[in-house]
Amino acid sequence: MVVFMYINKYSFIYKTFIFKKVYFKTNNEDLKLIVDALNIKNNKKRINYIYDTCCDIIDNKYKNINICGFNCHKCLNNIENGCCKNCMYQSINGCPSKNLTCKLFYCSKVKEKYDVIKYEDLKLLKLFNLKQRYIIQIDYFAKREEVLKDLYSISFIYSFIRILIRQIKNIYLINKNKI
Ligand code: SF4
Ligand code: SF4
Repeated sequence: MVVFMYINKYSFIYKTFIFKKVYFKTNNEDLKLIVDALNIKNNKKRINYIYDTCCDIIDNKYKNINICGFNCHKCLNNIENGCCKNCMYQSINGCPSKNLTCKLFYCSKVKEKYDVIKYEDLKLLKLFNLKQRYIIQIDYFAKREEVLKDLYSISFIYSFIRILIRQIKNIYLINKNKI
């Protein structure tokens, strides 16, 4: 049993094989989610937990608040479907999936109006390695399962090629639908 109180950008070492048999514990409420994540010893399940929990934190903060000011499907910048207008997955009912990268994007108007949750505010993301943290910042226009697959992969090149192909496909389909 280990109690730890200090979390920094190197905290991902707690996920290594050295701590495989260690059960973490804390009395600090701020660290509870991190400790819960570290006690999931299966890599994919831990990635899923971190991803879904971060999405939930954002969704819960904006529950019942229309931060993008949507009215008749137009956002406060008067854009039909808002930022999703350039995504192959857009639907009239909003996003059909759960994309953390998109959830962390806000235009300047939204940032002026609200104290938004930023990437740095999500301490759980410190448990991701550098490659995973980078992916979370660039993986727009993708479904939850696609992003998770990018996060699972050990190879950055493999994930990057997947993201690139998806972005090209997205541009092609969006332009095709405009014709
Ligand atoms: S972030 Fe800004 S541009 Fe994007 S949907 Fe919201 S209000 Fe519109
Ligand atoms: S993946 Fe992103 S851009 Fe596409 S519909 Fe969902 S939130 Fe919108």
